[in-house]
Amino acid sequence: MKVIQIDTATPNPPEQAILIIYTGGTIGMVKDPKIGGGFVPFDFEQILEKIPELHHFDMQLTLYSLEPLIDSSDITPEYWLRISQVIQENYAQYDGFVILHGTDTMAYSASALSFLLEGLNKPVILTGAQLPIGTVRNDARTNLLTSIEIAAAKKDGKPLVPEVCICFHDLLLRGNRAKKLESAHFDAFQSENYPALATIGTHIEYNFSAILPYESARQLQLQPVMESNVAILKMFPGISAKVVKNLLSTEGLKGVVLETYGSGNAPTVPWFIELLKEAIQKGIHILNISQCIGGQVRQGRYATSSLLLDVGVLGGSDLTLEAGITKMMYLLGKKTPASAFKKRLVEPLCGELTPI
Ligand code: ASP
Repeated sequence: MKVIQIDTATPNPPEQAILIIYTGGTIGMVKDPKIGGGFVPFDFEQILEKIPELHHFDMQLTLYSLEPLIDSSDITPEYWLRISQVIQENYAQYDGFVILHGTDTMAYSASALSFLLEGLNKPVILTGAQLPIGTVRNDARTNLLTSIEIAAAKKDGKPLVPEVCICFHDLLLRGNRAKKLESAHFDAFQSENYPALATIGTHIEYNFSAILPYESARQLQLQPVMESNVAILKMFPGISAKVVKNLLSTEGLKGVVLETYGSGNAPTVPWFIELLKEAIQKGIHILNISQCIGGQVRQGRYATSSLLLDVGVLGGSDLTLEAGITKMMYLLGKKTPASAFKKRLVEPLCGELTPI
C-alpha cells in the first residue's frame, strides 16, 4: 500500500481533508511507451502534474493506493472488507472519502460498502471513468474532481451527502440503487427506482429530500465478515430441472437470488416450485428480484408469483441485483438468525429498497 499526501492549500491551513482510495480500473490508466503505448495503472505521485486543477481546492488530499491494483472484475468480498477497514481506520481524520474503482462492478462494491459501513455519517463517493486520465479526451478528470468536491461539501459543518454514492458523469446516485447500464457512453450509471441525489452541471444541484439525513449520534461500526456461499439463479424460458437442482444442491449454499420476470414471476411447473420448497426447507434463503430494472417485485399479483410466496420465497421489492446479493452476503455474514434475517432482508437498512 502506498500513501501520498498533497496539501493544495499551502501555506494556508486546509479547509477539508479528503482520503482518496485508489483500487484500480480504467480511471487511473496512462499510456506506457515502454510497452508500446499500452495502458498501465498510473503512479499517483504524478497526480498534480496530470490534474493541475487539484490546486484549486484548499484541501489536504491523501491518496491511498491499495495493492494490488485491480480491474474491478477481480473484486472480492475480501477486497470490500479491506476498503472498509481503510475507511474505518481513517474515519476520524477525514471529512469524506473518494474511492477510485473500475466501473464494471462498481455498483456491487457501492452496495456492499453501504451495508458494511454501519452507522456511516460521512460521504463515501465511488467514481471511475470510461476513458482513462492519461487520454486527451476523458471523463476521468471531471469525475474525480466532482467527487472530491461532493465528498468535501458541507453546510453548517455537516456533510451534505453522508452516505455511500456513485458519482459519474452528470449524476450523483445512491450507491445501493445504482446500476451500470452503459459500457460505451459517458453516462454509464442509472438508478431507475430512486431519484438522483444530485445532478451535476455548471452547478451541483443537490436533491436534499432524497439524501439520507445526517445524524450526529451515529457511530461507524464495521462488520468484518461477508458470506460467499450465495448464488444467482436467472430465469429464462426453457431452464431445465437439472440446472436448477444442481445449483440448489450446492454444498454449503445459504442464499439464492432468484432473478424473475416482470413483477416477480417465474415458471409454475411443479418440479420448479418443489425444488424451491425443498431448498427453503433445508434453510436456504431465496430472494425474488426482477430482471426488469424499473418497478417492484410484488409476489401474489399474478398466479405465477403466488406459488413463490406460498413456498416462502422472499419478495425483494425494487432491490437491484447488486444490492440484493450483497445484502444477503452481509446479513448472512452477520449470522443473523433465520427469522430476523427474513425480516431484515426485505426492509430497508440504508435506503436500498422501497418497502411494499
Ligand atoms: N474493466 C474495467 C474495470 O471495471 C472497466 C472500467 O474501469 O471502467 O475495472
